[in-house]
Amino acid sequence: MKKITTTWLLLFVTTFLFAQTSTEQIINTKEVERIERVLAADDMKGRRVFSPEIDKAADFIASEFKAAGLQTCPPDWNKQAGNNSSTYRQEFTIVSPRFKGLTAVFDGQTEDAKNVVVVTTQPSITADEKAGYEKAKLAAGANLFAEAQKYIRSGKNYLVLVDTSYSKNFARLALLKRGMFAMSNSVVFVLTTKDPATYKVEAEHDITEQKLANVVGVLPGKSKKDEYVIFSGHYDHIGIGKPVDGDSIFNGANDDAAGITAVILLAKYYKALNNNERTIIFATFTAEESGGYGAQYFSRQFDPAKVAAMFNIEMIGTESKWGKNSAYITGYEKTDMGAIMQKNLAGTGFTFHPDPYTDQNLFYRSDNATLARLGVPAHTISTSKMDSEPNYHKVSDEVETLDLDNMTMIIKSIALSARSIVSGKDSPTRVKVDELR
Ligand SMILES: [Zn+2]
Repeated sequence: MKKITTTWLLLFVTTFLFAQTSTEQIINTKEVERIERVLAADDMKGRRVFSPEIDKAADFIASEFKAAGLQTCPPDWNKQAGNNSSTYRQEFTIVSPRFKGLTAVFDGQTEDAKNVVVVTTQPSITADEKAGYEKAKLAAGANLFAEAQKYIRSGKNYLVLVDTSYSKNFARLALLKRGMFAMSNSVVFVLTTKDPATYKVEAEHDITEQKLANVVGVLPGKSKKDEYVIFSGHYDHIGIGKPVDGDSIFNGANDDAAGITAVILLAKYYKALNNNERTIIFATFTAEESGGYGAQYFSRQFDPAKVAAMFNIEMIGTESKWGKNSAYITGYEKTDMGAIMQKNLAGTGFTFHPDPYTDQNLFYRSDNATLARLGVPAHTISTSKMDSEPNYHKVSDEVETLDLDNMTMIIKSIALSARSIVSGKDSPTRVKVDELR
């Protein structure tokens, strides 16, 4: 008995000590600073979308994911990279069609072009009965833009007859073309009271294509491979702007190199623990600051019902309004994820508060919102004092302004707070999509 007890005790003590040291070995101030110094360096030039420097940042994140031992982005989430690709870069194209002109004839009569909006990513289309356009009606009393999006995303060609009660907002449908993913279909919206028996719409656009990439790494779950937990942040920032005291680079050390630092260190932490029952996805998004395209593309590659939780991390480099060892969670009341996280932190002295800046709609202003709109318990964790943060979106958002010790503590606390969700023991309640704005 005694021997066994001793062995158990020894085993317990060693495991416990190992767990303690490994956390400290992986998530420490030195590592936080090392990663921050690379991502927020002047030579990253503010990581603006479409700049060569943002690709440099992506390469760095990919090299960290590789060093962590993560699997690459699953090929079926990465169709644009080609089959059998083994890469962390999740590439996609943003298409911007610029309207050149159109002619529309309904029942032999030429229609005023201002009553027609064509949404397409083809340079030239001809829509008529022969071209396989299905006719549909968008009746009064619906949400014009939400309904329009359904047709656009359907993958099918449509001629949509839009009720004239929408005449005030009809022209704004053209805004849906301001930057989109390549689509295989085209949709012709016509503001009309009629239902034409014959129709022919010819439209021309100049098409500009631009490539973007998220960086995605995966740690497969032990027993619940098909249940995902996402840790995310955005690696783009706003680039270069008007010089202030000779400095023109928006380094974005806090926004959101801090979140990316957390994602990288959490990847290394969970890989070392090697006991996640659920699959963990580490996602660093592009274009958060300009349209949220990265998270949108990412969210369309899998069934959102499989995502148990999303921890989006934004600006955790400064002390929160409550001081050290605290952070807030946006949309706290929308699920019980915050309560679960706090439960896992019992006895640590760390507190997750509900977002105190609700008038600023932060829940809707970061990449978590894209997944929340699909029902995923998806929140942003932040410490940024949004009513007074002195360096927010300024050239002075530099590593020197961060509290790296506190930031390290916050990353450790996020790791601890996610334990029961990563292990599959807890599943946060879903976001009620119809209650969102
Ligand atoms: Zn941000």
